[in-house]
Amino acid sequence: MRTSKQYFEGLKKKSSNLYLRGEKIDRDAEELMNAANVIATTFDAAADPASEKLCTATSHLTGEKINRFTHVHQSVDDLHKKQDMTRLLVPRVGPCIGRCMGVDALNALNSVSFEADKVNKGSTEYHKNFLKWLENFQRNDLVGSCAQTDTKGLRLLRPAQQPDPDAYLHVVEKKQDGIVVRGCKLHITFASVADEILVVPTRSLTKEEGDWAVAFAIPADHEGVKQVLHPHNMRKRTQIKRGFDFGFVDSYVIFDNVFIPWERVFLCGEYQHGGICALLFALFHRHSYSGCKPAMGDLLLGLASLAADINGIPNEPHVREKLSKLIEVAELGYAAGYTASDLGKPEVYMPGRGLVPYGPGAYIPNSIYANVGRCLTGEAVFEEQQILCEVAGGIPSTFPYEQDFANPETGKLLEKYTRRSTEMPIEDQIKFWMLFSDFTNSDLSAATNYGAMHGGGSPIMEQIAIYTQYDINYRKNLVKAMAGMPITAPAKKK
Ligand SMILES: Cc1cc2nc3c(=O)[nH]c(=O)nc-3n(C[C@H](O)[C@H](O)[C@H](O)COP(=O)(O)OP(=O)(O)OC[C@H]3O[C@@H](n4cnc5c(N)ncnc54)[C@H](O)[C@@H]3O)c2cc1C
Repeated sequence: MRTSKQYFEGLKKKSSNLYLRGEKIDRDAEELMNAANVIATTFDAAADPASEKLCTATSHLTGEKINRFTHVHQSVDDLHKKQDMTRLLVPRVGPCIGRCMGVDALNALNSVSFEADKVNKGSTEYHKNFLKWLENFQRNDLVGSCAQTDTKGLRLLRPAQQPDPDAYLHVVEKKQDGIVVRGCKLHITFASVADEILVVPTRSLTKEEGDWAVAFAIPADHEGVKQVLHPHNMRKRTQIKRGFDFGFVDSYVIFDNVFIPWERVFLCGEYQHGGICALLFALFHRHSYSGCKPAMGDLLLGLASLAADINGIPNEPHVREKLSKLIEVAELGYAAGYTASDLGKPEVYMPGRGLVPYGPGAYIPNSIYANVGRCLTGEAVFEEQQILCEVAGGIPSTFPYEQDFANPETGKLLEKYTRRSTEMPIEDQIKFWMLFSDFTNSDLSAATNYGAMHGGGSPIMEQIAIYTQYDINYRKNLVKAMAGMPITAPAKKK
């Protein structure tokens, strides 16, 4: 396994394909350091005896000890541990730990590449290629990001119907030694500080859309790939220091006729499995949110309750009600994820067929519980922000800058006029409201909220999964039986 130092050294060695504000930048640019420090935490946690058990696993390929963020889930216990690792690590850094996109995509590709080969009856070697890629990924403890979201053009048109076929990334040429792809993946979080980008389709596909059914992995600085960045950092501070400076960074990952060698291609043309791949990555990722959203809930609850303490209102009924609401969302999200882990099986939901065995035996979380948990926590994002706003009052939105506290002309006056609690030292009250602003009144918090609602698919996508996969007929029959009506469909739960 790598150390965080080796991770930083690796970043420096990559060739520059990153663009920010009109300029090419290196991977050790200051604006990327908060995000890189987040990723570094995952290496430190795996080496720390206190968290090692949760943050490492045994590779099913080599039997070696590996970072859990590179692991293919072999059991229900692995699913539980991924969720718990996420909940443990997120509050140390901020809203996102950054490596779940990679582990979620590789788990989807593990199963999809296996099934696509089965359909092709030995004429493709996607799974063999994938396992070779995975072994290297695990041995070198690499960081993966997942590029799923396409630009999607006109929302009501399918990929093959778009006026611009590049609205969804697709294969433009097949060669002896590989394929050429064109398109652009949007909002790809941590891709600029990752080692590998795993590319998967966005949506279900039809027979005519085989060119869009493509999945592969490339180094993040692969020849021809351009990344246009949007970093989101906590406001830089030099005098009043935080415990951790969180940041994340998103990329437009542009593939302008990019060559991908066959050994890095894990799906190419199998349209049914392209659709399953899209759903499967989303499913694994929604399950990851059952770790990070409760963890974010932990931070929000800490912010709201400390704000109530400092404001001198900790026991007011309206405050207790609002704090309870934060706990309800966090713990219901966690409980749904826990159940999704516990009911995990090597199975996926197929329309008309229900749950069917899928993949080489690796574990997949239960879809209903992963989706209800994600939907609940995603829809609560702005309500949680409202609770923080109500408990804090206006102070986080106009809080003075650190330099004004350092200025002898204003510093003491500001300490006097920002003081609320008589029990907490004023330096701590100042640090607290500055962090509160980071989480509620910053560029970073705005982008975090959008990601917390839409990441892994918008709530509507989760509702579609829930509605189409849930056995509603069974519930209709329960009522019919109770009413004494004839039962037309099987009364047993599917
Ligand atoms: C901060 C952040 C980080 C992210 N990180 C990643 C990442 O690392 N990797 C990745 O792959 N993606 C990432 N995403 C993308 C995320 O998965 C998408 O934002 C999400 O799937 C929604 O897609 P969209 O943004 O294109 O919204 P849209 O799908 O365009 O939604 C806009 C509106 O159009 C509606 N709509 C869309 N299509 C239809 C339709 N066919 N019929 C009816 N209504 C429709 C939607 O319901 C919604 O109301 C990230 C997003 C954010 C905000």
